[in-house]
Amino acid sequence: MHTPQNVRRGPYGYSAELLQVTTGCSYDKCRFCNLTNGTPFSVVPMEHIIADLEEIAAAVRHPRSVFLLTEDPMGLPNDRLIPVLKLIREKLPTVSEIIGFIRVRDIKRKSDADLREMADLGPLKVIVGVESGWDEILAEMNKDQTSADTIEQLRRLEEVGIEYSVFYLCGIAGKGNGQENALRSAKLYSQLHPTRIEIVSMTPFPGTQLREDVLSGEFELAPESEMMLEVATFIENLECETIVAAEHDTNLFRIEGPLPQARDHMVEVLRWRAANVDDEKMYDSRFMMKG
Ligand code: SF4
Repeated sequence: MHTPQNVRRGPYGYSAELLQVTTGCSYDKCRFCNLTNGTPFSVVPMEHIIADLEEIAAAVRHPRSVFLLTEDPMGLPNDRLIPVLKLIREKLPTVSEIIGFIRVRDIKRKSDADLREMADLGPLKVIVGVESGWDEILAEMNKDQTSADTIEQLRRLEEVGIEYSVFYLCGIAGKGNGQENALRSAKLYSQLHPTRIEIVSMTPFPGTQLREDVLSGEFELAPESEMMLEVATFIENLECETIVAAEHDTNLFRIEGPLPQARDHMVEVLRWRAANVDDEKMYDSRFMMKG
């Protein structure tokens, strides 16, 4: 298999077969990100993809889902993506879902006909790094999208029946700004219909601009208690029916539950954790995370 190390599967892909379609990220400019570890963006040759699919077909009895690697494979132009989706259908006929990351800007570049063509080869489940609903903060983090872009583009996915989950990056606004980020973000996410909202915690990974900014004092990390209270306020103000989960490696707390049913319980747990966490000790743990 042509599968890289450090695979990031996202919320849907834990039991899926892995199929590498791209390497790196076609954007690769977010201030907090070291996911590509310097790997340049490239599209995997079709002969590798065919060989990998044949290997999966020979090794796995009834593959049910395929996770496309790596950072934005669903954002490939349709003339490159559609043949891959067709090959999956042909070589792995038992597959009932194809999963992969896509950027808001990538959706914007696709026409409605492109999205429909993709949806027809699904069911597709895409994962989108929405991160925050605070536009000034997204711009500071070089995120290359606004709240208006996100609403417009994710609604286009809904119209063609492509399911999506989204990330929320708590702590993205820095120390002292968690509550405002939570309220602004809840307003944005409440207008969407994600299957799942995955909470990730802002971490100054080695190799990122963010780490340099933390070391120079330009960006001040929010303490863990502030991040927990931020997520509590975010959940408290979310109006969409979805699943909220904080089970990512960057989180120093774990929660998962459906909204609105589990709202009160999750908020209570987070507020209790915030009141009992040792912020100083946890700061060191976060700074030592390698990504
Ligand atoms: S966060 Fe996503 S879009 Fe931004 S650089 Fe990292 S992989 Fe690329």
